[in-house]
Amino acid sequence: MIRIPYGRQEITPEDIEKVTEALQDDFITQGPQVMKFENLFAAYVKAKYGVAVSNGTAALHISNMALNVQPGDKVITTPITFVASANSVLFCGGTVDFVDIDPRSYLMDLSKLEKKLSRVPKGTYKGIIPVDFAGYPVNMEKLRQIADRYDLWILEDACHAPGGYFVDTRQKKSYCGSGELSDVSIFSFHPVKHIATGEGGMVTTRDKNLYEKLLLFRNHGITKDPTLLHENHGGWYYEMQELGYNYRLTDIQAALGMSQLARAKKNLEKRNTIAKIYNEAFKNSPVLTPHVETGYYHAYHLYVVQVANRKGLYDHLREHGIYAQIHYIPVHLQPYYQNMGWGKGDFPIAEKYYEKAISLPMYPTLTQELQQFVIDKVLEFVS
Ligand SMILES: *Cc1c(COP(=O)(O)O)cnc(C)c1O
Repeated sequence: MIRIPYGRQEITPEDIEKVTEALQDDFITQGPQVMKFENLFAAYVKAKYGVAVSNGTAALHISNMALNVQPGDKVITTPITFVASANSVLFCGGTVDFVDIDPRSYLMDLSKLEKKLSRVPKGTYKGIIPVDFAGYPVNMEKLRQIADRYDLWILEDACHAPGGYFVDTRQKKSYCGSGELSDVSIFSFHPVKHIATGEGGMVTTRDKNLYEKLLLFRNHGITKDPTLLHENHGGWYYEMQELGYNYRLTDIQAALGMSQLARAKKNLEKRNTIAKIYNEAFKNSPVLTPHVETGYYHAYHLYVVQVANRKGLYDHLREHGIYAQIHYIPVHLQPYYQNMGWGKGDFPIAEKYYEKAISLPMYPTLTQELQQFVIDKVLEFVS
């Protein structure tokens, strides 16, 4: 039987060639390819600096560190995200709080966020981690205004959204992860994401100070930059100035990343074409398709629909080799988070969404024929 996953990577002969070339270079750990990849990726999302790391979770961790999250600091995120968005605050000893989602965009409800912030003294919260969930851009212009009113930093989890943007009130495209309105942003190169490097991630920013901290935290807190050293004993000399980690990406992965990045824009267009076909097919059915406001370019990492009998549809699709997936089990309902005091009923919109949501196959190499098969099986079940 054919097996259709909800997402998958595409590896071309050119990708393999680039990786093979990289393997023959002097550097196979972090070297010149990583730097090139950082520059190209930052340019793709319209950011200034890129810091490549070993995965998206590492990107979140060093971002929290660079933003100086300290034990006891409170940070807000959304319950509908991958657990790592929230966990990264805990890595630094901080405390996570959540704001429920908007029932139509599935993104953090910014009016609820504002209400929450207005009820506590300024300084109660240090920052906010918005997530461009499924690839739908958070309105960073509105969020920035709120963040500025309450002195919060913004760490944008843009794992789902490289290439996505919205048109701001000045009629300018504001790209996810550009750092124009957020302080730092993070991406993942896990194989189901837009760009695959096996494991891999990136932090982007326009802030030079944060950029320099990120470089330190990625590499044990060690620097050899003569302008940053306290002393200098000679050519061998380096200093460990912070407690950092080994979160480096390899040149082998960077070579693959660059080869993939060259197709990213074209693949993003394909994702949008696939979405359009789904939207059209489900128009007069009980399947609730994603809401996209005008002026928003959705990056469609995921194509999430809502149906009344979600479990039934999930099982039905699986019987036919279609491996749809659920994104996400609300973070606050995970046992680890329930042990911290969260529980059912805390974020009712997110919980209701979770009861009905299902991610249908969405990846650039999904053929029209296979997509039609998915559509037929969905409609067969719901009607
Ligand atoms: C994939 C993902 C991450 C984590 O990335 P990894 O590379 O798997 O560590 C974080 N946040 C979101 C929203 C993700 O989808």
